[in-house]
Amino acid sequence: MNKNKLKSRLDNVKNRIKIAAANVNRKIEDIKLIAVSKTHPVEKIEFFYTKGLKTFGESRAQELRDKNENIQNMDISWHFVGHLQRNKVKYLLRMNNCEMIESLDSWRLAKEINKRAKKNNRIMPLLVEVNVSEEESKFGINPEDTLNFIKKTDKLSHIEIKGLMTLAPYFENPEKTRPYFKKLAKLKDKINNSGFNLTELSMGMSNDFEIAIEEGATIIRIGTALFGPREN
Ligand SMILES: *Cc1c(COP(=O)(O)O)cnc(C)c1O
Repeated sequence: MNKNKLKSRLDNVKNRIKIAAANVNRKIEDIKLIAVSKTHPVEKIEFFYTKGLKTFGESRAQELRDKNENIQNMDISWHFVGHLQRNKVKYLLRMNNCEMIESLDSWRLAKEINKRAKKNNRIMPLLVEVNVSEEESKFGINPEDTLNFIKKTDKLSHIEIKGLMTLAPYFENPEKTRPYFKKLAKLKDKINNSGFNLTELSMGMSNDFEIAIEEGATIIRIGTALFGPREN
């Protein structure tokens, strides 16, 4: 692990966030950075923690659980960002520092999270993953179904839908992701016009987070630009 390299990547990401926010007159405090640590060792998480990062993201439930057990004396919180199988929900809901599940993508998953949250006596904050590009290969609710999905899930007692999450398709030129981020932001407005109060838009990864910030992201999920290439 090369600490200098990690530190300079962090400085670089922070600088990019600052510039993108300034472009559209947004405050950096309104943009939450999730450091996506999947495949990377706990040592790198601990290093970034000492540099001020507090919230980490993982896309596999067991990996998140195992890393959490190996980290001691640090008040790290976690966002789960990957496709979640229903039989793994319990791992996340047993923890007291899994702050958000960003990838709610089915009614059956919503019911399972609600059940486990109830059992653990908590209200679980969630984002609905929206498949803005409507690619077959991607998880997420279709944009035109999202309002109805939220109306239905909103009735569950132990979850709280805080906003929307998406992954844009990958483009060499990140500018091409802009229409997808615009679409998610518009969808949030439309849902709020129907009486909801969604506050979060999780969009933007290493390659495209500046565009996402310009389009209103409140949560960005950065892996490679901080940790380097994934290790497996
Ligand atoms: C891996 C992952 C990220 C981070 O991707 P990078 O391109 O490495 O920044 C963000 N969001 C989700 C859902 C991921 O699975």
